Amino acid sequence: MTQSIGDIVAAHLRDVPDFPVPGVTFKDVTPLIGDADAFAAVVRDMAERNRGVVDVVAGIEARGFIFGAALALELGVGFVPVRKAGKLPGETAAVAYDLEYGTATIEVHADAVAAGQRVLLVDDVLATGGTAAAAFELFEKIGASVADFEVVIDLSFLGGRERLADAGRSVHALLTV
Ligand code: AMP
Repeated sequence: MTQSIGDIVAAHLRDVPDFPVPGVTFKDVTPLIGDADAFAAVVRDMAERNRGVVDVVAGIEARGFIFGAALALELGVGFVPVRKAGKLPGETAAVAYDLEYGTATIEVHADAVAAGQRVLLVDDVLATGGTAAAAFELFEKIGASVADFEVVIDLSFLGGRERLADAGRSVHALLTV
C-alpha cells in the first residue's frame, strides 16, 4: 500500500524534547531532508497543488529555505528568501511581530517580487502563526499577494491555522499534529 504524504513526514520526523528551551518539543526535519525519497515526496506533493498558479516561491529563514528552494526548482520559478532583520544587503521592507518574549523582525528585498506577482510561502513548522502572518503582511507591503502557504507540519494545538484563517489567509499542511 502506498503511504500518504502525512505518514511519510511523520515517519521521518524527530521530536526533540526541551529544545531550544524547556517545555518545547522541537520538530526536527533533518531526518526527512536527509532521506532522498522522503524529501522528493514532500517537494512533489507541494508542487502538485501549485504548478502554474504561482510566480515565485518565498521561503522563511532558515528551514523554509531548504523546502522552498527545492520547490522553486521543481515549479520552474524563482526563489525569494524571507530573512531575519539585518541579513539582506539591499533595500528592504520589514515587518515586526510579537514573540512570547519580545519581538522579532523579518525582511525581504523591496524589489524581490514585481507588483501583482503571486507568491507561494513555504516553511517547515506552523506553530503560533506569528511568523507566517508577518510574512503575508510583508509581501502585501511590497505589492505582491501570497497565493498560499505550504508548511510541512502544523502544530494545531498552538492555533496558528485559526489565527491565519481569521485574517483570511490560507494554509496547507502535509502533516497536522
Ligand atoms: P510561529 O511564528 O510561532 O508559528 O513559529 C514558526 C517558526 O518557528 C517557524 O519558522 C518554525 O521553523 C519555528 N518553530 C516554532 N515552533 C517549532 C517547533 N516546535 N519545532 C520546530 N520549529 C519550530
